[in-house]
Amino acid sequence: MSAVSPTRPLADAAAHAPRHDWSRREVEALFALPFPELLHRAAGVHRAHFDPAEVQVSTLLSVKTGGCPEDCAYCPQAQRYHTGVQATKLMSTEAVLEKARQAKAAGASRFCMGAAWRSPKDRDIPKVAAMIREVKALGLETCATLGMLSGGQAQALKAAGLDYYNHNIDTDPEFYGSIVRTREIQDRLDTLAHVRDAGMKTCCGGIVGMGESRRQRAGFLHTLATLPAHPDSVPINRLVQVEGTPLAEKNTAAGLDPFEFVRTIAVARILMPASMVRLSAGREEMSDELQALCFLAGANSIFYGEKLLTTGNPDTERDLALFARLGLRPMQVTVDADGHDHGGTVHADIAECARSRAA
Ligand code: SF4
Repeated sequence: MSAVSPTRPLADAAAHAPRHDWSRREVEALFALPFPELLHRAAGVHRAHFDPAEVQVSTLLSVKTGGCPEDCAYCPQAQRYHTGVQATKLMSTEAVLEKARQAKAAGASRFCMGAAWRSPKDRDIPKVAAMIREVKALGLETCATLGMLSGGQAQALKAAGLDYYNHNIDTDPEFYGSIVRTREIQDRLDTLAHVRDAGMKTCCGGIVGMGESRRQRAGFLHTLATLPAHPDSVPINRLVQVEGTPLAEKNTAAGLDPFEFVRTIAVARILMPASMVRLSAGREEMSDELQALCFLAGANSIFYGEKLLTTGNPDTERDLALFARLGLRPMQVTVDADGHDHGGTVHADIAECARSRAA
């Protein structure tokens, strides 16, 4: 496969095909492009694979919050930091089902469940598997984020009907030890391999604004783009500084130029052209103009709802107004020959609202 020169415009559709052989130098060169040129290229790649007016909308339910033994320096759910997050036990299957029914009634097609664990214990797997089976039986696609998985656990979750697994690599491998000391990035890569081997789709990204350099942001995206398969979804989070976490004390997010965040989105779009690039945590603190630039740079997925795990998310009205002002619409679910959808969670209410506002 021919390399795409970061200094030459992309010429044809073939040049937009997913590649897995990006060099770190190429990724750094993309970051260094003049801002308008980078956005122009990213928008071209976006159009080759997606309708740029469509945005996938997902929701996430925290089924077990806080009390996590890990030491991720950004995370309010780590029990060692005093962030005011109240630790909860794993929700009952019935309570999760009630939320899933509400999501389905609102038009959701996919239901994401998150638990703050280093990794699930083997005794937790049957409980989570029961949730997955029951949620699946409602006719919803299922997604989970539960921490590190063994090969056997991944197989068990797949057998229960789990479609997607979220597991972020967080940051550049060389910066990883500055953010997390209770595990190594190889642990994350191993779990992603178990998830792929089990036949599930992957959702994998990380966080920017943690004090990393541009070179390290390039290293983070290079790691994702050179995985054996690009993640189906790539959540790019902008650090939310939660009081009590080490990164809030260091105020690292203040050092991140908003245009650098947009550059990160654009480079992710170019490197992983067929993946959903998702604006995740940190959106609440972004201006409408910054979000619009992110959509222009190739972001085509957001989390929608009042809460994204323990971090606030922009309210529904603001999302609806922004969609209407930008002429965007929620992506509709399309179904594969193998029966899997590509559209993600679509809320009938916001689809309806967006339509009526546009009318
Ligand atoms: S990011 Fe996940 S693994 Fe790390 S402390 Fe938070 S809940 Fe635990």
